[in-house]
Amino acid sequence: MEVYKCTVCGFLYNKESADRTLEGDIVEFNALDADWGCPNCSISAQMFVPAPQGGLDVDEAAGPEDGIDSED
Ligand SMILES: [Zn+2]
Repeated sequence: MEVYKCTVCGFLYNKESADRTLEGDIVEFNALDADWGCPNCSISAQMFVPAPQGGLDVDEAAGPEDGIDSED
């Protein structure tokens, strides 16, 4: 599933924290009700951004990795 992160409090919507259907299936973030809010800070889902699997912070401004090899 896709992991989303609350930009307000840092809460991660992932397979551990995701809402579940009555059958116990994970509810994908984009399938949540329109009135869903962050379980931690109650902010709306619009304040969430896609996050990498595992929830690691990725700095998109980081320098490029051009495959600099040092095979010595
Ligand atoms: Zn939050």
